[in-house]
Amino acid sequence: MIKHDVVVVGGGLAGMRAAVEAAEGGADVAIVSKMHPVRSHSGAAQGGINAALGNREDDSPENHAFDCVKGSDYLGDQDSIEAMAEDAPRQIVWLEHRGCIFSRLPDGRIAQRPFGGAGSPRTCYSADVTGLVILHTLWEQLERFGVKVYEEYFATALCVEDGVGTGVVAYNMRTGELELVTAKATIFATGGLGRVYAKTTNGYASTGDGMAIAYRAGIPLMDMEFVQFHPTSLKENGVLLSEAARGEGAYLLNSEGERFMFKYAPNKGELASRDVVSRAEWTEILEGRGIDGCVMLDLRHLGREKILERLPQIRELALDATGKDAIDSPIPILPGMHYAMGGIETDKFGATRIPGVYAAGEVACVSVHGANRLGGNSLLETIVFGARSAKHAVQYVKSVGSVRQSERTLRSERDRIDGILARTGGERHAQVRKKMNAVMSDNVFIFRKEDELTRAVEGLREVREAAKTMTVMDKSKTFNTDLVGLLETEFLVDVAQPIAFGALNRTESRGAQARVDYPDRDDEKWLVHSLMHYTGADPKPDYSRKVTFTKYKPEVRSY
Ligand SMILES: Cc1cc2nc3c(=O)[nH]c(=O)nc-3n(C[C@H](O)[C@H](O)[C@H](O)COP(=O)(O)OP(=O)(O)OC[C@H]3O[C@@H](n4cnc5c(N)ncnc54)[C@H](O)[C@@H]3O)c2cc1C
Repeated sequence: MIKHDVVVVGGGLAGMRAAVEAAEGGADVAIVSKMHPVRSHSGAAQGGINAALGNREDDSPENHAFDCVKGSDYLGDQDSIEAMAEDAPRQIVWLEHRGCIFSRLPDGRIAQRPFGGAGSPRTCYSADVTGLVILHTLWEQLERFGVKVYEEYFATALCVEDGVGTGVVAYNMRTGELELVTAKATIFATGGLGRVYAKTTNGYASTGDGMAIAYRAGIPLMDMEFVQFHPTSLKENGVLLSEAARGEGAYLLNSEGERFMFKYAPNKGELASRDVVSRAEWTEILEGRGIDGCVMLDLRHLGREKILERLPQIRELALDATGKDAIDSPIPILPGMHYAMGGIETDKFGATRIPGVYAAGEVACVSVHGANRLGGNSLLETIVFGARSAKHAVQYVKSVGSVRQSERTLRSERDRIDGILARTGGERHAQVRKKMNAVMSDNVFIFRKEDELTRAVEGLREVREAAKTMTVMDKSKTFNTDLVGLLETEFLVDVAQPIAFGALNRTESRGAQARVDYPDRDDEKWLVHSLMHYTGADPKPDYSRKVTFTKYKPEVRSY
């Protein structure tokens, strides 16, 4: 039986940062992860991490906070945003002191590049492999503190006894056994849900597990309709070409060779926020100025030297997928599913409604991104709120005497999974996933409208029924990836529903939610968060949580 004071579920940047903070705070902490931590999706992050260091131009945490509030289309909770912007420079120094290698300015200070929606160059980076570099830095820190990592342990359920979180049940993928992981505090850091959509920049493991687990246990999911479509994903395979390309000066061109962004964002052009750029691209394509359903990302004028020094991975990814070398050829791109602004509802410390349960990173909705996230803020969120949630959890643990082991959750999970293994004759999970992907990609995309969203809601009801019949061919114990795939598909179906219901209910356009039938932002009615409660069928919506304001009043948002 596994037992620790603090258990972190997930070994990406948020999970590792949380574990290191807890270890530094003297807690007995462990990580449970379905794969090796350095293989987490965080390692694919290219462009950088924001902090108002002011190394290139004057900057301040206040400016950073304002850009986030505006970027969020005024849906972000301003107290959480201020906490993040304030802590950012400290966290960059923290990383640097632990050996993180950032790119440099000629005078030796940390380099910063411009990113979309930012008032000044604020994004710190390590060439275009920033996530990987930070991930390895944190892995070294885990080794240093000897943090125990339960690798290839797949969490399936949250344990709650007497209203308090007491750990998780996890499926040990090597042995095929379910095990109880008991903890006084549990921190979810399981990342995003990109695989809800047919094409995404996210890795195969981004299946919304933590969100679904918390949701099933009674914690609401918040602001799920806000899904970010990144403006530059490769047409061929959906793989991301980082915003760093535009940050370094790349152009977006339509079929007439026009830099069309200035029609949509006269001041910022290509560096408007992502929701604005993605809508502009899609409009160009819909109005017939695309090229084979794409627009072009043009780096040629940056020159070979700059591309090789600052954007080597981007050139390589494009070359691999398209055979085109960005040094002398524009690259066909289009908007692709990239990021979940929504997630497990938390307060500004990462605490959920269930005492002893926290969430940090992409899985959480601390509400720093509101209706639209700015590039470079997600890596920052993982670091800031990984640390913050762990600090809070370590304090909380001191107040907890002993925890009840949730044998009943272990038993019910065993029964549930035995039931799945014994099932015959139903649908294969790959088929169910395909149907769900089609429903979401066809009906809950960049531009949304009532009839399509209604179709999505109905389609997902059918998908949920089909999911109840899913079967596996492989009944064996060791590395049963068929079973894991089925469980992930169940999680995806759970988190897809709140996205579609949230998008249908919200009769306004704000950030990434663009309703063609409700084109305006409606601050009278909709300065509220969308909460969705689990029922086992349709989610139960709740609009009782208002947006937290400090000093930034809603204004017209233009770039
Ligand atoms: C291609 C790409 C590029 C990006 N570039 C940038 C960028 O330049 N700047 C920026 O700010 N943001 C960027 N982002 C977003 C950012 O990288 C992610 O939001 C962030 O890294 C997520 O980190 P995380 O720790 O929350 O989750 P992840 O890194 O996804 O880690 C999730 C962890 O949870 C574990 N896990 C999941 N489910 C379970 C389960 N059931 N049981 C046990 N363990 C589980 C996994 O094993 C993994 O270790 C990018 C994202 C992508 C996809």
